[in-house]
Amino acid sequence: MNSTAPLTGQTALVTGASRGIGRSVALALAEAGAEVVVNYSSSPDAAEEVVNTINTAGGKAYAIQANVGEETAVDELFKTVLERSGRLDVLVNNAGITRDGLLMRLKTEDWQAVINLNLTGVFLCTRAVARTMLKQKSGRIINITSVVGLIGNAGQANYAAAKAGVVGLTRSTAKEFASRGITVNAVAPGFITTDMTKELDSEPILAAIPLGSFGTPEQVAGTVRFLAADPAAAYITGQVLQVDGGMVMG
Ligand code: NAP
Repeated sequence: MNSTAPLTGQTALVTGASRGIGRSVALALAEAGAEVVVNYSSSPDAAEEVVNTINTAGGKAYAIQANVGEETAVDELFKTVLERSGRLDVLVNNAGITRDGLLMRLKTEDWQAVINLNLTGVFLCTRAVARTMLKQKSGRIINITSVVGLIGNAGQANYAAAKAGVVGLTRSTAKEFASRGITVNAVAPGFITTDMTKELDSEPILAAIPLGSFGTPEQVAGTVRFLAADPAAAYITGQVLQVDGGMVMG
């Protein structure tokens, strides 16, 4: 691993890093020199594979299981990271789920499950990291929202509401933390090839994407890596960066 890499000496926690976008973000931050904490919920083998890939490449990583929609699990997760690493410089709130359904038929439990992980989980992790970053007088918080949170999507009222909530949470926290050297930004992917999108009928979606393809997890990870880097992104806070092939403009 290159010791002049931009995140050398830093520790980054990526929630939901066992698969998809979170996995690519973990690899990109490790490549940038950070020690990476690979959080997962129910895929220990996949999380271990991410850790091994990073460690084999000469980086530093370890995995911690925690449901980031649960307050006590989140508090335990951050306590363990501080015990093991002694610091936390970058938090990427990536863990997310979908439970789609048209509003008239949307079950309350599916509404609550999505709001609980995709929005409340971001709040819980942000609150849990705040004390450490405020003490350090530095930190980067990067929240993975979605273009669906900006424009809505039929059949995804719960998901869109949670992701729109993440935008409001990002901007409010950015204002609260700015004077303390902590930036808070969001990345809004369009359609990215992961387990989350594998069941979708791609034809009508592709017609709405000017660049003509789904994005890759690596392309989202590149944007996260940029937002974590110093000095490149030090003067950016409260922003939502879209990685969507031009799907949503203006
Ligand atoms: P994915 O492939 O389904 O992976 C989801 C990840 O979240 C997995 O690592 C999973 O861990 C983890 N996770 C699920 N529930 C969790 C919980 N309660 N606590 C901790 N981790 C949990 O999803 P993805 O497509 O990479 O999506 C990642 C993020 O990007 C999500 O916030 C999603 O909303 C957002 N996004 C995705 C797209 C897209 O097109 N794919 C577009 C816009 C936004 P386990 O493997 O352990 O279950």
